[in-house]
Amino acid sequence: MKILIPVKRVIDYNVKIRVKSDQSGVELDNVKMAMNPFDEIAVEEAVRLKEQGKATELVAVTIGPAGAVEQLRTALALGVDRAIHVPADAMIEPLNVAKILAKIVEKENPDLVLLGKQAIDDDANQTGQMLAALLDWPQATFASKIEMNGGDFSVTREIDGGLETLSLTLPAIITTDLRLNTPRYAALPNIMKARQKPIESITPDSLGIALQNRLTVIKVTEPGKRKSGIKVADVAELVRRLKEEAKALS
Ligand code: AMP
Repeated sequence: MKILIPVKRVIDYNVKIRVKSDQSGVELDNVKMAMNPFDEIAVEEAVRLKEQGKATELVAVTIGPAGAVEQLRTALALGVDRAIHVPADAMIEPLNVAKILAKIVEKENPDLVLLGKQAIDDDANQTGQMLAALLDWPQATFASKIEMNGGDFSVTREIDGGLETLSLTLPAIITTDLRLNTPRYAALPNIMKARQKPIESITPDSLGIALQNRLTVIKVTEPGKRKSGIKVADVAELVRRLKEEAKALS
């Protein structure tokens, strides 16, 4: 079984996001970038499937600026065999990503595409679903458990108020949720070895894809500032304020 793992370069989740003064987006200059956390979970799951002898080859792919090669190196250090970089603007829309991934799937013929459920920068939660539609493949989103029975996958999904278990035949698309696994850290010798692993560059043009944006960002703003709290003298005042001011009690 060959697994393709699309990974996105995003602002590291520990960084406090700063909105650009012209409200056109968020500051990316001199900001620490990292692999999207849900994609780290996808890489970890793929590596575990290879360690269990269930997967034979793992290929990571990223679509993004030159710096995104760093995230491919991380994937390679974590156990991925080889990687593909498709150079593109940082603000590429999910439909463009899905179309490029569909072409890479045509080229690579993976049995499984394992994506994150969403990228934490734009929170789109669209790429896996769009790719499944473009390929006409079965999909299981928000996976919290993946098991292989013969050639089929059994995927447990986190849904409102419970869990749903689906059976999928390959080829298929699975997107990862937070509780699927805890990703490992790359060990130093593996970081060194990853430098020798191949990264191929494939342009969108050579895949026959013209990148066309359909969305226009009107503005990006910071969340409203929270009002500071107040101290109340006693429970009676708390209840009165909750009733009269916050209207939280009737
Ligand atoms: P999104 O639909 O943008 O929330 O992203 C969902 C998932 O699609 C991510 O977790 C990645 O696995 C994949 N993905 C999104 N954008 C890219 C990209 N530029 N390059 C590679 N994979 C991507």
